[in-house]
Amino acid sequence: MKMHRLPSQYTVTHFKFVSWVLLLIYLMIPSTFGVIGYSVAMQNHEFMQIALGLIAVTVIAVIIQWVISWRARCPICHTTALSHQGCTKHRNARTFFGSYRLRVACSVIFKQWFCCPYCGEHTAVQARPRPLPRLKYH
Ligand SMILES: [Zn+2]
Repeated sequence: MKMHRLPSQYTVTHFKFVSWVLLLIYLMIPSTFGVIGYSVAMQNHEFMQIALGLIAVTVIAVIIQWVISWRARCPICHTTALSHQGCTKHRNARTFFGSYRLRVACSVIFKQWFCCPYCGEHTAVQARPRPLPRLKYH
């Protein structure tokens, strides 16, 4: 299978960071709802404060993700593979728990490559080797 690569080490780090933040959000949302449900059911004020704290952390993570994800672009089609887009997905694109982004984030973290949901191309989360110095012909 032919794999494309990311243009620089900076992009590699960026992709990983955006993926971790996205994964954090997907873990935070159900746990926040869980804590809210528990605190309401138990009438426990301490848990209600924890729930408020979790909501604040989730909101901050969503804002960070929203700001930084626009720079994590697919090297082939230049679509932001880790942010929500209304664009048509590739016919082979699949979801993970109903989310294309979550699938991309998980494969960046656990498999070190991702399949862009928009163009369907595989990209390794590695920097491209430096181009060879251009030969001079006299
Ligand atoms: Zn793409």
